[in-house]
Amino acid sequence: REVIVVGQGAREHAIAWGLKKSGATLWSVPGNPGLAEWGGVLPSVAPESWEGIFHGRRPLVVIGPEAPLADGLADRLRALGYPVVGPGQEGARLESSKRHAKEIMDRYGIPTAAWQVTHRPEELHAWIQACTEWPRVIKQSRLAQGKGVVVAPDAQTALAVWDRWRAIPEIWEDGVIWEEALTGEEISVLVAVAGGRYRWLPVARDYKRLTADPHSPNTGGMGAYAPVWTEPPADLKAMVDGRILDPMMRYLQEAQIDYRGILYVGLMLTAQGPYVLEFNVRLGDPETEAIMPILDIDWYDWWWSLSQGQVPTVPQPTRHAVTVVLAAPGYPDTAVTGIPLQLGTEMPDTVIFQAGTRLADGRLVTHGGRVLAVTGWAADIEQARHLAYERVRAVTFPGAQYRTDIGRS
Ligand code: ATP
Repeated sequence: REVIVVGQGAREHAIAWGLKKSGATLWSVPGNPGLAEWGGVLPSVAPESWEGIFHGRRPLVVIGPEAPLADGLADRLRALGYPVVGPGQEGARLESSKRHAKEIMDRYGIPTAAWQVTHRPEELHAWIQACTEWPRVIKQSRLAQGKGVVVAPDAQTALAVWDRWRAIPEIWEDGVIWEEALTGEEISVLVAVAGGRYRWLPVARDYKRLTADPHSPNTGGMGAYAPVWTEPPADLKAMVDGRILDPMMRYLQEAQIDYRGILYVGLMLTAQGPYVLEFNVRLGDPETEAIMPILDIDWYDWWWSLSQGQVPTVPQPTRHAVTVVLAAPGYPDTAVTGIPLQLGTEMPDTVIFQAGTRLADGRLVTHGGRVLAVTGWAADIEQARHLAYERVRAVTFPGAQYRTDIGRS
């Protein structure tokens, strides 16, 4: 029961937390101080550097973030005989190229906003000037760490985006997408995929804005709760399965992609039904921090099964969880690093997952935008929220930014 968790955020710390409960021996790379408390840290993501440590053993590898998946780490590890959770490079293109994802959706009749792509700044400029219907959405096709999407309310905003992007050749290489804006409620559906089949994980809701003000800046995610429903509404599930997930399985089969991992579908629930905003090829952060504690699963067996091409069962959630992210002052622009932190004493039914932290002379300090994810769980969401915020208040973190409304709306 030996596992390597690839990544360094609160999502990976939460994955490791589940694995630790199932008695696994943990390794992480590059890891963070929280992960390092629970196991060894590998020198680099290059599997060649692991040989001296594992002497021919092949631990299970769970890859958390999108970047190593887009780089083809899963393919390289599989070629070396490692059991791996996470798609190979071709499967990961569903996230690493929004243009590719849009083409697949059009080809398989999957509902998504009408779109065009361009590789030429002057063409986008012409589209903006000719546009009479606002808002419009402008997206970099490539991976941009959540910073490549702008919903522009008017031409002036769109032109400002164009001006920021026009002289950066890497943005135009895979193209810029010009897309119709959809309206509705947003949800994220996460499914475990292997062997051409899939199973739903509990539906979580995340909070993207820095504060409760809908005009406050977008972030990587300031909190989450799960489950949104103990059991998703049957009609919604049938639509998402029939219109989106079943065709995706057909695509994977026809493209001969042996996808073993998580597929995350960002959806807008429009008046015409669910439309796909984006695919991610891994678990969400902070959704994972709220999903892990509500499922009674032997996580080692679960991930192992997925790595072997079998979709494991997902039990009904037995409790509710609320996750509150504590971000450094200055986030999401320039986060202040080096602020000393104290996590406070442990409390039952709560856990702190670390993200942007670092040890400086043995003391924990901030080292990134999103610093901690604090989760509380209980039989009902009110109590889960109460526990999460009680744990937040026990943390010493001068200047921390966090939302006070997670799980309330
Ligand atoms: P993430 O941070 O989730 O990885 P991303 O940068 O990959 O995001 P998307 O999820 O495609 O990009 O878009 C980010 C947000 O922009 C969405 O959550 C949604 O709120 C908004 N958005 C994207 N496309 C549309 C659209 N067609 N209509 C309306 N809003 C949209």
